[in-house]
Amino acid sequence: MLVFLQSRNGITTLERADPEKLTTQPAFLTGWIDRRDPFRSKDIFVMKRTRDVRLSLLILLSSLSSVSSQVNPGVCRYPLGMSGGQIQDEDISASSQWSESTAARYGRLNFEEGDGAWCPEITVEPDNLKEFLQIDLRSLHFITLVGTQGRHAGGIGNEFAQMYKIKYSRDGSRWISWRNRQGKQVIEGNRNAYDIVLKDLEPPVVARFVRFMPVTDHSMNVCMRVELYGCEWLDGLVSYNAPAGQQMNIPEHVVYLNDSVYDGAIIYSMTEGLGQLTDGVCGLDDFTESHVYNVWPGYDYVGWSNQSFPGGYVEIMFEFDRIRNFTTMMVHCNNMFTYNVKAFQHVVCYFRSESDWEATPLAFSPSVDDEDPSARFVPVPLANHMASAIKCQFYFADVWLLFSEITFQSDTAMYNTTLTPPKAGLPPIIQPEDDPTHKVDDSTTRILIGCLVAIIFILVAIIVIILWRQVWQKMLQKVSGMANEIQMTESILSTQSETFAYSHNQSSGGTSEQESSSTYERIFPLGPDYQEPSRLICKLPEFAQNSEEPASSSTVAQDGVPHYAEADIVALQGVTGSNMYAIPALAMDLLSGKDMAVEEFPRKLLTFKEKLGEGQFGEVHLCEAEGIQEFMNKEFLFDVPEEATVLVAVKMLRSDASKNARNDFLKEIKIMSRLKDPNIVRLLAVCIYSDPLCMITEYMENGDLNQFLSRHEPEGQLALLSNAATVSFGNLCYMAAQIASGMKYLSSLNFVHRDLATRNCLVGKNFTIKIADFGMSRNLYSGDYYRIQGRAVLPIRWMSWESILLGKFTTASDMWAFAVTLWEILNFCKEQPYSQLTDEQVIENTGEFFRDQKRQIYLPQPVLCPDSLYKVMLDCWRRNAKERPSFQEIHRVLLQIQP
Ligand code: ADP
Repeated sequence: MLVFLQSRNGITTLERADPEKLTTQPAFLTGWIDRRDPFRSKDIFVMKRTRDVRLSLLILLSSLSSVSSQVNPGVCRYPLGMSGGQIQDEDISASSQWSESTAARYGRLNFEEGDGAWCPEITVEPDNLKEFLQIDLRSLHFITLVGTQGRHAGGIGNEFAQMYKIKYSRDGSRWISWRNRQGKQVIEGNRNAYDIVLKDLEPPVVARFVRFMPVTDHSMNVCMRVELYGCEWLDGLVSYNAPAGQQMNIPEHVVYLNDSVYDGAIIYSMTEGLGQLTDGVCGLDDFTESHVYNVWPGYDYVGWSNQSFPGGYVEIMFEFDRIRNFTTMMVHCNNMFTYNVKAFQHVVCYFRSESDWEATPLAFSPSVDDEDPSARFVPVPLANHMASAIKCQFYFADVWLLFSEITFQSDTAMYNTTLTPPKAGLPPIIQPEDDPTHKVDDSTTRILIGCLVAIIFILVAIIVIILWRQVWQKMLQKVSGMANEIQMTESILSTQSETFAYSHNQSSGGTSEQESSSTYERIFPLGPDYQEPSRLICKLPEFAQNSEEPASSSTVAQDGVPHYAEADIVALQGVTGSNMYAIPALAMDLLSGKDMAVEEFPRKLLTFKEKLGEGQFGEVHLCEAEGIQEFMNKEFLFDVPEEATVLVAVKMLRSDASKNARNDFLKEIKIMSRLKDPNIVRLLAVCIYSDPLCMITEYMENGDLNQFLSRHEPEGQLALLSNAATVSFGNLCYMAAQIASGMKYLSSLNFVHRDLATRNCLVGKNFTIKIADFGMSRNLYSGDYYRIQGRAVLPIRWMSWESILLGKFTTASDMWAFAVTLWEILNFCKEQPYSQLTDEQVIENTGEFFRDQKRQIYLPQPVLCPDSLYKVMLDCWRRNAKERPSFQEIHRVLLQIQP
């Protein structure tokens, strides 16, 4: 007889079993993970799951009768419906949301709807773990695996959770923090915004509600997409209460027989929890070993000595989710009689259906086995008792009782332990009592149904295997066809005359379809990290600056590459520099935001002084603000003014502004209110309770850097003769270093500015610089932003090639813009970048950067710029975004430059 065993490392083994040993329920019938060494028999077949189709079929045949009353964690790994859509939107909630388009319902793994993920309202702080994404599974589930992914949104997003914690609840009120077998709560999450990372929950949990809580070591923007994997918890067991497990002293060492993963309270006894007795893993024959999880001996068992139980029995009470009709209880017991351990000799069970316990208990005495020391399941018939709680007294047959699992069979609810989906296409929430197939009592009918189902499974499995192999081959071809991907991007760019951004799904050439699984495709362990190559396109160096692979630009930079719809882009954009934007039609919930870091200021305390300038929203005024110090968040204010009246800049939304412009204005407020750095302009207060909407910022007395430098000259003879105001080279570097410092702060938050230029930096006293104008980054979470609608204008002379051609904005593209800004500074803003090129030629030049055939034109070395600094600027304009320096490096370089 073949026994189907599945080990934890993804290798499936088939073992020829000794029929003698199968006196009690055999492992293959129960579908349990058997920890006995699968390599001990010489008749073993070891099979790599993905290699041998014939052996897969053998396994399928061997598991024909693998319909079990117990859950098997090795098989119970089905996606529970975040990615498949079976979990309804209303069952997905969150602590907060950044905007309507990043609400909880967008937190579905592999979904690209909305703005591409769930994003909490505020930056996640290391010491403030209150943000969570919550899933209600509507019924108890056995959850073995979780999957997470960040916000990619076709290259626009770059937010993900590097770490997270899980909390779960069975009743919605008592929440339990998940810990691994070593007691650690934090789970390592994603390293980029697109790959799916799967993590086994060891131990698995039984829960109805699950919360994902992002964890960070520094404050940062986090977005998540998630999936839960497992199966419905048909046992219905909600908790067991038992005396706490004890320690056994044997000559070699101490064996700890406590329930180390119990999730209820443990004082003298264990109450209201589930733990090792329900984790789906059976203990070894030899309980003194425990090599599976690298933990202490006896780990798998909960054990008690008869010396502590004068009555001669251990009482365990089991509570269920509802009244059930019980047929069997299965108790996995150790039987190493050489250590005075034996399965129980007698059990007495009491049943409670409503509030009262039944008067007559049920008693059962299994045969005591003094010969075979193997651990075994002892089935206890429960004779169709109706109950919602069962209390059993297990009588000692020797000094020790050691249990590793206890499960219940009721209402003929059965787990499917075959490799094929249990009910492909059905929603995961299946109430056994609602499902007619669960009500078949007659055993012959059950066998017949089992056979029929098994035949269907085999046919489906064969089809799936054949299709899967074909898809796999296609995927391999795809990986080798990098050039094809580029062509596809070109065609997207050339056909999307109205759409600037490339759509991630489109450009990945349908890989998402190939990867998207049927509802019940089971997730097998793939390796220690279970990294899935979810987006081939993201791994291509041309498309992902985060990719680990080395750049191979030569493979794609070929002659004859078309011009990426340059004409289309040119037709859509206008001249650089001014700020007109496509306006996203997104609802904005700023006013309801509870965590606003900025306060409303009484409008009447503002006194107009003069007009400072005019921006896209309206005029910017210099005002006196009476008593504004009280409204300032001192913690983050860098130069707290002492005077009663303070000069401030007040940016106002013009009265005829559209609803969208109003939303954008509020979004900019929202972003600015959270940025706190000496080199970022501070939002001090707002007037948003009434119109016109105003943001009150620090006043920077020297205006924007572009105008400031235009009014100045480099030090030297010429300046002396013309009597012009000068700025030293040292001060130019000082100003550039401050911009780098502000950008360093933004990049630490994964925040992309997208419009860095001298015109967007403000100058205060003593050459202090603060970055301003978050007009483009306010669309951080807007998938709409890149749709160029007729008049939209982009600052193409500051933009990296990938921002122009692929719509990809990252910290590395900010770095590109920084080098252009540095170039402007060193030229005293006397000249526009690429002033000798028309806009069409700038776009053509971008194509040359993409082709990288040494035909691209770089901005020339400014007269004042030392060679070493020009080299750094050229590094910032490297084709491969990964090779560009970081803001930390640039900041360091600028601080070190000697005039
Ligand atoms: P928008 O981003 O809507 O285009 P800006 O923020 O650029 O508007 O403001 C327009 C002009 O107002 C700037 O070029 C600058 O000269 C002036 N300005 C804006 N904010 C300040 C400030 N905090 N201090 C001094 N001048 C400012």
